[in-house]
Amino acid sequence: MSVTFTRRAAIKLADNGARPLSAPQRLTVLGATGSIGLSTLDLVSREPERFKVVALTAQSNAAKLAQLAIAHRAEVAVIGDERCLGELKSLLSGTGIEAGAGEGALLEAALRPADCTMAAIVGAAGLKPTFAAARQGRRVALANKECLVSAGDVFLQEIRASGAELLPVDSEHSAALQSLAGAERVAVERIVLTASGGPFRNWPVEKLKDAKPEEALKHPNWSMGAKITIDSATLMNKGLELIEAYHLFPVGVDQLDAVIHPQSVVHCLVHYIDGSVIAQLGPPDMRTPIALALNWPERRQTPTARLDLVKIAALTFEPVDESRFRGPSIAKAALARGGSAPAILNAANEVAVAAFLDRRIGFLDIARTVERSLEMAETQGLIRATESLEDVLAADAEGRELASQAIATRN
Ligand code: NAD
Ligand code: MG
Repeated sequence: MSVTFTRRAAIKLADNGARPLSAPQRLTVLGATGSIGLSTLDLVSREPERFKVVALTAQSNAAKLAQLAIAHRAEVAVIGDERCLGELKSLLSGTGIEAGAGEGALLEAALRPADCTMAAIVGAAGLKPTFAAARQGRRVALANKECLVSAGDVFLQEIRASGAELLPVDSEHSAALQSLAGAERVAVERIVLTASGGPFRNWPVEKLKDAKPEEALKHPNWSMGAKITIDSATLMNKGLELIEAYHLFPVGVDQLDAVIHPQSVVHCLVHYIDGSVIAQLGPPDMRTPIALALNWPERRQTPTARLDLVKIAALTFEPVDESRFRGPSIAKAALARGGSAPAILNAANEVAVAAFLDRRIGFLDIARTVERSLEMAETQGLIRATESLEDVLAADAEGRELASQAIATRN
């Protein structure tokens, strides 16, 4: 008998009858110019007969978007920032590729029939387009972790109602999916996500206080967008991923853990009740989990470097030092609090990361801002149940407001 490894039984993951999408696969990439978007299109360009690109979207880089749309013969290219529409249109003139701009066009692009949507917009800005993609009832390859962090139950409800297939792209969750395949739910004891520890793993707290954006942006192993790179330095990324894992897999908050693993080779470890641990290993290159989400349950050739464990020689693991990196514990507390707390956490963190990148607050102020925002939300009675995307977006707006206040009034 097949077992579905999701909290909500109707989502088609793992053993639940998912079939390879037939080629050519109609593919939309939301956030095509970003790190995940470009890695996705790199794989597409290696197997052009396998994919038919429907829509590509970006926020403001019209030149890059037009170049990608032309190279992949997309049907439509949509730019979020309406001021860039003129440039996009002139770059695409004579190509037969439609150009659109603004939120309405973005949602229309997400709703255009596609077999698979790579949801790779960064942040809560990805919520509405990813929900629109889910409504199609086809495959959603989910990089935008914010859909599960801020809108977990509401997003899963949308997936269930439409009959869509949800495939995680985040490397740790892709690893968990693989390590859980074929297992019985009751046999799973714990899911442990690994974290590289980021560039400041060994920095004392006195030095962390003065850490600069350019230092935080130097990730030791992964090349990613700016927001998630800062989240990796604070370890809030792991906090967000614990919430993401809670919604994807059948475990309670207390069965989820994070461990520091500086080599970024083991991505997740699933502990079973008989003492077995099943883990997935791979190079720190997102094309491996992206390829799996696009082709699941099939595995396809990727150009990623092959792991040479003899050369790597040692795989090491350390506990998260919660006195310096509070992201995971703040996120777990918000998850346990429930309701809109995770949406407020995510929004406050987005505001705090932007303020840090703007040099308006220090590195340690990021976690403080998130914590204070959640405290203020609690004392003001703002943590409520979220039953719809509108509720989630309202909580997101409140989280942004609280974080701005927390930043303005910090001492
Ligand atoms: P990125 O910053 O490199 O790219 C973001 C993309 O979203 C760009 O195409 C940008 O134009 C678009 N975008 C930004 N703001 C937008 C807005 N307001 N409206 C519409 N589009 C907008 O980000 P990334 O690193 O590729 O990350 C994308 C998502 O994937 C994030 O949710 C991140 O947490 C997740 N993720 C990324 C990685 C990684 O290796 N980069 C790994 C795991 C998960
Ligand atoms: Mg990850």
